[in-house]
Amino acid sequence: MACGAVRRTRFAPSPTGLLHLGHAYAALVASARADPGAFLLRIEDIDRDRCRPAFEAAIFEDLAWLGLAWPRPVMRQSDRLPVYRDALLRLAPLCYPCRCRRGDIRAALSAPQEGALPAGPDGLIYPGTCRARPMSDASDGDVIRLDAARAFDALRLDRIAFRDEAIRPGQVHGLGRAEFLDGIGDVILSRRGMGTSYHLAVVVDDAAQGISLVTRGKDLFDSTWIHVLLQKLLELPTPVYHHHRLIRDDAGKRLAKRDDSRSIRALREDGATPGDIRRLLSL
Ligand code: GLU
Repeated sequence: MACGAVRRTRFAPSPTGLLHLGHAYAALVASARADPGAFLLRIEDIDRDRCRPAFEAAIFEDLAWLGLAWPRPVMRQSDRLPVYRDALLRLAPLCYPCRCRRGDIRAALSAPQEGALPAGPDGLIYPGTCRARPMSDASDGDVIRLDAARAFDALRLDRIAFRDEAIRPGQVHGLGRAEFLDGIGDVILSRRGMGTSYHLAVVVDDAAQGISLVTRGKDLFDSTWIHVLLQKLLELPTPVYHHHRLIRDDAGKRLAKRDDSRSIRALREDGATPGDIRRLLSL
């Protein structure tokens, strides 16, 4: 990070359930690493079928109860669909429409091989069935995929890289073109009925908000390769990353939003204080 630059971080939950201890940890890590006034909250609500206003209200309330503060108004992804559409248009020469459903992809992948199907941070590695389709052929039932090989060629890059201040700090993490094509593949930039995807929206928004340090769980480490590639294609800066540990339940399982018993709300109702939450998280 440039000397003297503001350390701006964000917590970017999707309002699809109540916040649990894992979210509290992510929010507290982000807030602790930001310069004063530079911790932002962003509501990631592009999945209109799963997001609920009541969960968004609960996010605001639980974070304030934890003692966090952030500038208002907050950025809400559902307000930014035209911005994502513009970014997608810029990338369109490197994209193609894809009509394959999960079953088609599984069938295409199972034919040549036995056992577990190849998967990466964006799900099954797309076998390329629709790759030759032109964008002019796109219809409402299609998703839009990035042709990763063409993307690397357009950039004349055979490697992408980023820094992580939590995982091997001081070293650059790098991934080659061939590793990207084999382990990640042609990712979706626009999902059916959404006009964008998590990957495209998060890259556009982190840049728009001037986020210099992206803090989030280790489970998203491999998604960062997708984000770095998109940053290069859209000529956006690559922030520094901080992929933190995941909070697990007593059985070692990662917490999920459906585990209501571990929600911040339930802990509050049981009489926990914000200090108790920090202690539970060893903060
Ligand atoms: N909305 C994403 C989530 O809740 C945010 C991930 C990120 O920080 O990039 O998992």
